[in-house]
Amino acid sequence: MKTIGLIGGMSWESSSEYYRIINKTVKERLGGLHSAQCIMYSADFEEIENLQHQGKWEELATLMINFAQRLEGAGADCIVICTNTMHKMAEEVEDNISIPLLHIADATAERIVEQGLGRLGLLGTTFTMEEDFYKKRLQEKYNIEVIIPSQSDREIIDRVIYNELCLGTIRQSSKEKYKEVIERLTSDGADGVILGCTEIPLLISQEDVEIPLFDTTTIHAKSAVEFALK
Ligand code: GLU
Repeated sequence: MKTIGLIGGMSWESSSEYYRIINKTVKERLGGLHSAQCIMYSADFEEIENLQHQGKWEELATLMINFAQRLEGAGADCIVICTNTMHKMAEEVEDNISIPLLHIADATAERIVEQGLGRLGLLGTTFTMEEDFYKKRLQEKYNIEVIIPSQSDREIIDRVIYNELCLGTIRQSSKEKYKEVIERLTSDGADGVILGCTEIPLLISQEDVEIPLFDTTTIHAKSAVEFALK
C-alpha cells in the first residue's frame, strides 16, 4: 500500500471527513484491521483564510508548496489537497514536488463522464465558482459545461461555507437555502451538481435532492485510496 499525503486543515471539519472516508474505504477493500497509510499536514485555517481574502495568493502558493514538500520528505507517495479552493495553486505545487498530485477536479470529472452527464452546476467558495482555475479544467480537459448560481446565490453559498460549515455549524435554514439554489440550477438546465467545496457534504447529501450530486470530498478521498492500492 502506498502512503497518502494529505494537506488538510482547510478546514479541519472536512479534513476529518477525508481521514474517515480514506480509512473506511481501505477497510472495505482489504478487510480485517486494515487501515490507510497516510500523513496529514494540517494548517491553521485562520491564517489561510486571511491570506485568501487579502488576495495574497503568491504567499499562499509558497505555503502550499512547503506543506507538500514536507509531506514528500516524510515519505508520502502522492499529494491530496483537501480543499477545492486551494487547487488554485495546484500547478505551482505540482511543479515543486516529484510525487503525483491527485487533482480534485480530475477525480470529480471522471465520475461525471462515467455517468454521461455534460452540464453541471457548481457550488463552492466564490473563488471556485467565479474564477477559472476549476471550471476551465472541467471544460477544457473533460468537455463539461459548468453553470454557476446567480451573484446573490453565490453570496449565500460562500457565506455559509466560511461562517458556518468551516466552523462546524450545521443549520437547517442553510440547508433549505442550498436546496433552493440547487433547484434554480436545475431549472437553468443543470443535469447534475458538483458540491465543489469539501465542507458542503456536511450540510447536504443525495437524499436531500433528486438531481445527481457529486460530493468532491468522497470522490477525492476514494480516488486517493485507488492510487494507494493500485
Ligand atoms: N474546503 C473548502 C473548499 O473545498 C473551502 C475552504 C478553503 O477556502 O479552502 O473549497
